[in-house]
Amino acid sequence: MTRLFSRTLGALQPYVPGEQPAEPISLKLNTNESPFGPSPLALEAIRQAANNDLRLYPDYQAQDVRDAIADYNGISSAQVFIGNSSDEVLAHVYKALFQRDGVVLTPDITYSFYVTYGAMFNVKQKQIPLADDFSIDTADYVVDHGEPVAGVIFANPNAPTGRVMGLQEIADIAQAFPESAVVVDEAYIDFGGESAVGLLGQLDNIVVVQTLSKSRALAGLRVGYLMASEAVVEALGRVKDSFNPYPLDRLAMAGAAAAIRDTDYFDQTRQAIMDARQELSEDLEGLGFSVLPSATNFVFARHQQLDAAAIQRALREQGILVRHFSHPRIEQFLRITVGTSDECRHLWKVLADILPGLG
Ligand SMILES: *Cc1c(COP(=O)(O)O)cnc(C)c1O
Repeated sequence: MTRLFSRTLGALQPYVPGEQPAEPISLKLNTNESPFGPSPLALEAIRQAANNDLRLYPDYQAQDVRDAIADYNGISSAQVFIGNSSDEVLAHVYKALFQRDGVVLTPDITYSFYVTYGAMFNVKQKQIPLADDFSIDTADYVVDHGEPVAGVIFANPNAPTGRVMGLQEIADIAQAFPESAVVVDEAYIDFGGESAVGLLGQLDNIVVVQTLSKSRALAGLRVGYLMASEAVVEALGRVKDSFNPYPLDRLAMAGAAAAIRDTDYFDQTRQAIMDARQELSEDLEGLGFSVLPSATNFVFARHQQLDAAAIQRALREQGILVRHFSHPRIEQFLRITVGTSDECRHLWKVLADILPGLG
């Protein structure tokens, strides 16, 4: 049937999401979902929105959600763009900002969707190796790349390393490429980093992408957004309105706006995850793992003697899912989502049980 297929199809390298198991699993620590439910106020707002108005198209500007995000971040709603997940927002970024002459810079170890979008949108990317300690070294970006730099994209905190960069370093990169968008994917920023949204006033080429999937416990609702200059938001809107003018349904809008406004629940749950992360990191070190410092809701850990893939398999047999990547630089690491403190305890007990048998 390949005779029916487009040229683009052959070049695609689809993203491989972490497993969403059909059979019951006792502990799912492989895709960085929140162990807590969404804000009860968000759930109530979704229930309220499940009414006859669903026969009507939603507000294509998603004004109420944009207002909530703008208020929370101290910017204007004209600086907020919303999409059906941050993955979708990133797709529009590639289309609107990266399809230019030159090369887009991105770390060699980062969110693997950037490679997928590079292939999908025919954007040439140059992978800049992380430093030996898995940090992003700005000096490696701010050099002559032998061709124009059409943009920069990285996750901060980075995934799957968990390491966070300071705002000054991000500003240094943005200042080095004033003619190109510097996109900071802040999927995990609420677990210990400082958002680059604070730089928007000085640097109009910074583009900040965030999601409700991790710290707001709404991965199932599919809401992501971007904060940038008004001109960039307007550009993204032109791509959206050429593709799907209504990316957010009425239920998603109701839930998203309520979740963003429920700052008490948000602060309480993210603090619980940061506390559990600290305990989990210490417990893993006690079991012979080296753990990278994490500013996210996961830890990236390597056992000093035992093979990562073998540990992952053994955990799976005990009903615990964690993520393992086959990229050569990180194939001895496991990415483990931070659960509740009880879940982290359970993981620790199971590991203490199975590790001796793997040696
Ligand atoms: C989870 C994640 C996303 C995707 O978030 P969605 O809004 O659920 O699409 C984007 N970037 C990074 C770095 C992530 O970890």
